[in-house]
Amino acid sequence: MINPPHSGIVVVGSANMDVVFSVERIPVPGETLIADSVAKYPGGKGLNQAVAAARSGGDTVFVGALGADENGDELFATMSDSGIDSTLVRRVDVESGQAFIVVADSAENTIIVASGANAEVMALTAEERDRVTSSAVLLAQLELPLEVVIESAREARAAGTTVMLNAAPARALPDELIDILDYLIVNEHEACLLGGSDDLAEASVRLAARVPQVIVTLGAEGSVLYQGGRELARVPARRVMAIDTTGAGDTYCGAFATAIAAGRGLTDAAAFATAASALSVQKLGAVPSIPARDRIDAMLG
Ligand code: ADP
Repeated sequence: MINPPHSGIVVVGSANMDVVFSVERIPVPGETLIADSVAKYPGGKGLNQAVAAARSGGDTVFVGALGADENGDELFATMSDSGIDSTLVRRVDVESGQAFIVVADSAENTIIVASGANAEVMALTAEERDRVTSSAVLLAQLELPLEVVIESAREARAAGTTVMLNAAPARALPDELIDILDYLIVNEHEACLLGGSDDLAEASVRLAARVPQVIVTLGAEGSVLYQGGRELARVPARRVMAIDTTGAGDTYCGAFATAIAAGRGLTDAAAFATAASALSVQKLGAVPSIPARDRIDAMLG
């Protein structure tokens, strides 16, 4: 049998409703504080990255679960409105994932995540597996059960789908997962944890010895690209007036996946992702700030 051509991006990931409480300061144990305001935003690393992939021009399908509740309906609508293929999204009989975020005036935050429906995604269904194996790029994060992340990566690897992992939130990972990645995207903290060193350069080089392409993002400092075990390039961040950096990393990952799925090289894809994430920090919120393709192209000139 001839394998059909691989195309598009499959995001295997989480979707959460973020409930953001703005307070003067982070409460201490036992204390009750009155919030200045509270707001709800669609979020979750999987959803944010899928929105970034779709808005930046990638043909994107989401694999994950929502609850059969109002939050689930809103998250589902966000996917459809962003042009994500949501036909495989599961609706399960538990509450949708939620993140309770407390943001102080100092910009410090504390986050509690109730995984809800996300925790129900333990294994791929046959249809989900087919989409993983027929996509050009698998993009996963670590907000779903690790079992399904590993299964997706293994299936993708066996089928010749490019395996991309954003190892966030930070946690230790089994060798069997790291060793089948094509691309690993991490921030400084995640790089040090996974690379087993407090020295970022050393941790990054250790990771680069194991994963063909490693991207370490450094916030306003940009990102560093490693290929074939060596540093390939440093990509400075775009100089912009940052208003809210929530979702900058997710925007980077989603846009990067779009560029790789379109056949662009590592440096070119990183430049595209850098422009997309620079646009995202100029607006409040994660999903609302994720830019469309024309704005990214305009920034790149
Ligand atoms: P994470 O949110 O995962 O920690 P980073 O903070 O490293 O991710 O940000 C990811 C990318 O977003 C950076 O590599 C950079 O290109 C862009 N970025 C982040 N903060 C800024 C900023 N203040 N100005 C411009 N670009 C930024």
